Amino acid sequence: MPALLDKFDAIIETRSSLPDMPQDPFHIVMDKVLSQTEAVIGGRHTILAGTNNYMGMTFEPEAIDAARKALDQGGTGTTGSRVLNGTYSIHKALEAKLAEFYGMKHAMVFSTGYLANLGMLSTIADKDDYILLDADCHASIFDGCALGQAQIVRFRHNDAADLRKRLRRLPEDAGKLVVVEGVYSMLGDEAPLRPMIDAAHEFGAEILVDEAHSMGVCGSTGRGVAQAQMVEADVDYIVGTFSKSVGTVGGFVVSNQPKFEVLRLVCRPYMFTASLPPSVVASATVAVDIIEKAQEKRAHLWNIAQKLHSGLAALGFELVTDRAESPIVAVKLPSLEAAVGFWSALLEAGVYGNVAGPPATPQGLNIMRLSLSAAHTEAQIDQILMSFSEVGTALGIIQTPSETPLATAMSAQARSPQPVDAVAASR
Ligand code: PMP
Repeated sequence: MPALLDKFDAIIETRSSLPDMPQDPFHIVMDKVLSQTEAVIGGRHTILAGTNNYMGMTFEPEAIDAARKALDQGGTGTTGSRVLNGTYSIHKALEAKLAEFYGMKHAMVFSTGYLANLGMLSTIADKDDYILLDADCHASIFDGCALGQAQIVRFRHNDAADLRKRLRRLPEDAGKLVVVEGVYSMLGDEAPLRPMIDAAHEFGAEILVDEAHSMGVCGSTGRGVAQAQMVEADVDYIVGTFSKSVGTVGGFVVSNQPKFEVLRLVCRPYMFTASLPPSVVASATVAVDIIEKAQEKRAHLWNIAQKLHSGLAALGFELVTDRAESPIVAVKLPSLEAAVGFWSALLEAGVYGNVAGPPATPQGLNIMRLSLSAAHTEAQIDQILMSFSEVGTALGIIQTPSETPLATAMSAQARSPQPVDAVAASR
């Protein structure tokens, strides 16, 4: 009789065929987090270049103070769902803050962004409705579809003509929802929202934009790609998360749809899970406020993202996008083995990034994914570039970079990794 877990044998096989490494690439342990951009990993001081801490909010003093106060006043958790005892006045205040921030009538806070997508997609489209998904959408969007009963149609990534072609084949009077992201999480590329919205509207479809990776980063006040591309008035639902730019955990949806509030009575991933603890709600509320006004941080983040992108390109790495479309910069590697080997060597050199391959990545790509924070300094970007240069050369991924102007400039800088205690003491 086969055991139920036998179905994962192929994955177990692939995992165990990878060379032994000091750290597990898929379950790295942070011994100690020192700041938004530094941690001790395996006893080594490491630059974090693979978090989603885009606005560097995890150590924001005001957010920490607010969390502490809420913890003292409201305790460690609500022990109940939003529809029972889990809605405190601060949950309502956070929803009011989000509605105001987005200039939308309604906001609903979920316990994670994953649950926000699960809730929206499984609830608003029913068995006679259609959901049209960009092929590169996040797992939470696919899982939301799997939980619901709508008919699912995938269209080619960022391809409005393909979306239009598929919309044209659907029954005219059926309910339709088009789902895209502002910035795609793995490759860091941005969606062309205008043509997507135009296609959706032409066929009477509503549109949901997941701004998980663009909130804080894009748009003049950090509302995301819809704000940056000036199409917000044409978007029906914006989904977001507090686990990236907001620096804590939680998810939300904002909308101007007149009947939106009914979702509080029918959306199971909202109704049947515990609500966010007071400390999280309080820090998120403060963080959204700070993000709105953080133009300088945003400008710095875009500058260093551009510097990292052009620096890696100058070293000879093959990048997934032609320019930095977000703080996510993805470097192509020839195989999963090569990507994992690169990741491990980079970690040994004191830089943590993410390694990813199919099915987590599109187009069968194996990548090193770097994601920057507004808290990174120019010096840290230089250090990341230096480490990429060294590891890339040692592993034969790039040619001798010593001949390129950038590498010459970089090798002029002394490279002296700081001991852990010195870094900790300097905080
Ligand atoms: N949407 C997208 C596009 C994401 O990348 C993620 C998380 N990586 C989520 C939603 C889920 O967010 P959360 O971490 O809040 O569950």
